[in-house]
This record gives sequence, C-alpha cells and structure tokens, in this order.
Amino acid sequence: MKPMGPIPPDFRAQDGTLLIGGRTTAELVAEADDTPLFVYDSAIVEARIARLRAALPASVAIHYAIKANPFPPLLKAMRPLVDGFDVASVGELRTALNADMAPDAISFAGPGKREDELDAAIRAGVTINLESEGEAWRALWLAEKAGVRPHLAVRVNPDFELRGSGMRMGGGAKPFGIDAERVPALVKELLAAGAGWRGFHIFSGSQSLDAEAIIETQAETIALAARLAEEAGAEPPTVNLGGGFGIPYFAGDQPLDVERIGAALERAYADRPAILRDTDFCLELGRWLVGEAGVYLTRIVDRKESGGQTFLIVDGGLHHQLAASGNFGTVVKRNYPIAVANRFGAEPEETVNVHGCLCTPLDRLGDQVALPHAEVGDLIAIFLAGAYGASASPSAFLGHEPAKEMLV
Ligand SMILES: *Cc1c(COP(=O)(O)O)cnc(C)c1O
Repeated sequence: MKPMGPIPPDFRAQDGTLLIGGRTTAELVAEADDTPLFVYDSAIVEARIARLRAALPASVAIHYAIKANPFPPLLKAMRPLVDGFDVASVGELRTALNADMAPDAISFAGPGKREDELDAAIRAGVTINLESEGEAWRALWLAEKAGVRPHLAVRVNPDFELRGSGMRMGGGAKPFGIDAERVPALVKELLAAGAGWRGFHIFSGSQSLDAEAIIETQAETIALAARLAEEAGAEPPTVNLGGGFGIPYFAGDQPLDVERIGAALERAYADRPAILRDTDFCLELGRWLVGEAGVYLTRIVDRKESGGQTFLIVDGGLHHQLAASGNFGTVVKRNYPIAVANRFGAEPEETVNVHGCLCTPLDRLGDQVALPHAEVGDLIAIFLAGAYGASASPSAFLGHEPAKEMLV
C-alpha cells in the first residue's frame, strides 16, 4: 500500500455516497449524462475567497490567474468575488472578457506574445505585463498604429526565488520577465514614450506550502519594487506581488497558513517604503482558489488481476487529468487523494491500482492505493481536480471523448 494525499475537508458523505455541492455523485453523473466528469463546487471557491479576504489587508486586491481553470461558468461565478483576472494568451483574454471582467481589471502575462495578441490586448485596454524589452518596443509600435495609449506593466525577473516552490519562475536565467537590473531603464523609456505605465509584476514561484517562505518573498518583493521605483524615479501605480500559494496534494503535505501570511503582509504594507505609499497591491492566485473545489469522477469499466495485483480500469485517464498521473510537473508519481464515490467514508478493504483507459503505462491514476471494495460500474472520485485538470491535459491523445465539466 502507498499513501495518498489528504481529501479536502469540505467533502462529506450521505448514506455512504460522496456529496458535491450538496448533491450525490450519482445525481451529478445523471445530470451530465455520462462520465468522465469534472464537478466544481462554487461554494468551496466562494469560501476560499472569503477566507483570503478576511486574512489579507483590505488594501491588497485578489486576482485570479485563469489558466488554473478557465471553465466559463466558473469564471462567471468568480467575477464578482475577485478584483481581476490574469490571462496568459489571447484565448484566455477573450474568455475573461466574455465573463464580463472589466478590461482595466485584466492583466496579460506570458512569454512569446504574438503581435496579434499584443494588438488585441492593447485595443481591449487590458494591462500587458511586458516580458522583455523587445516586447515593449513591439507594444509601443502597435499602440501607436492603433492610436491608443497602452497600459504596460513590467514583469520583473527578481534576483531571488520563492523557497520550496513546486515550480520556480523567478531568479537566475529565466524566460519570464526582465532581469531586475535592466528594469529602471525600461520604465524610464516607457514613461518617455508616453505609455500608461501600470507598475510592476513580480512573480517568483508556485505551489509553496511554506508560509514563512512566502512571507519572506513578499517582503523581498516589496523591497525590490521600491528599489526599482527609486531608480526609475517614478511611483508605480500597481505592484503585483505574485502568488505561489500551494495546496496539499500528497501524503504529509500540510495546508498553507494564509492567516499568518495575511498578518505579515498587513505589517509589511503598513511599513512600505514612501515611494509605494499610493501604490495598489495585488496577489494573483490560481490553484489555491479553485484546486480543492474540483472532483474528477470516472466509472470503473473493468476489474482485473495481474501479477498478484488488482487493477480497477476506469473510463477516464491522463487525457483529462494529467496531473493525477504524475506527468504534469512532478518527478515522482505520488497519489492524489482518491475514493470510491459511492462508498465514500467506508473503511479501506483492499489495495488496488486505479488505471485510466489509455493504452500507456503512464496512465496510472492511483498506485497501490487502499480503497473499499469496488466493482465495475462504481464511481471513482479523484480530488484536487479544480486546477490544472481539464484544460491542462492532452485531451486529443488517443481520441477519447473530452471530459464533461459542471459547476454546482
Ligand atoms: C501559473 C501562474 C499563476 C498561477 O499559479 P498557481 O500556482 O496556480 O497559483 C499566477 N501567475 C502567473 C504569472 C503564472 O504563470
């Protein structure tokens, strides 16, 4: 038997079956008309945002990085609850605008923005987080051609990184942002060109469960923003402090203490350097807001024995939920929390492998996990499917149907 990650505490059973948004998984599957199915619980997302609001100083805005989960009904539900959406392609930009987010509350980051993407962003009036000097010149030129004043922020590649981060995105040689020492000169050029300079975007990592590391990084980020602003001789209208808030995926992971982070940020904000006195701060979070709200439901289509092990073969797989198979940014396969949905809360009775329907050994969703007995037709629930699930999986691989998605 191998351990699995913690099932998010929000989920309960009723008569031995998993409830999502107060409804049984059987009802949800009937409504969707089939498995595999992603279900996102809006009440969990709402509670997450409310908890974060209560923890943060009132002056720090909350942005949602929609690449974590761009499902349109989810974005519509989140739009009134957050202060902005962050996008990373023109496709995401359209999705954000279709969810009725105001253009001035949208920012667009990401290396390799094509000219048509820059043009669309400039015309829409969203803030572009510039990833290089070359991109800055292209944006200025396109804005001049379009006859509009572009909203440009500078994404800084900081000279530090978020300790213990699952995915490092700052520090050293990076495809993201502009090395800190070259930023003041660029800001001066943007101001001289008459651009609407929006400030700094400083994102230094993802998936950290270490509150102290995040607190330290936020303090360093505020200090860096102030230093760059002094050198540029200009007060930044906004500073995006990044995010990096992680969620517990695996056995032994502990949830992040966001109240501690909020209290430290309150102090850091109160003590901010004078040049940041009128600056608006924001955080941009993806998985922490939505990851635990999603469940992937897949049906057992075969139960078989091989080499002394039991395999539960399901109708879903890594083509929908790549991350659970350990093939999305993890080195070692570790088990996501997983359950038999129609026997939720029952004691484990056997050790099984839960395998997807793809013809590749990579498609293992549960490796030697202890579960109650399950048969063909039973539903398997894989948790933590609210972020980097449906939209981050190779759905065309092997030609199966895409997963259904539902917000409850
Ligand atoms: C991916 C990304 C995020 C979201 O990361 P999470 O780990 O989901 O919170 C936020 N900002 C930027 C710039 C990103 O690239």
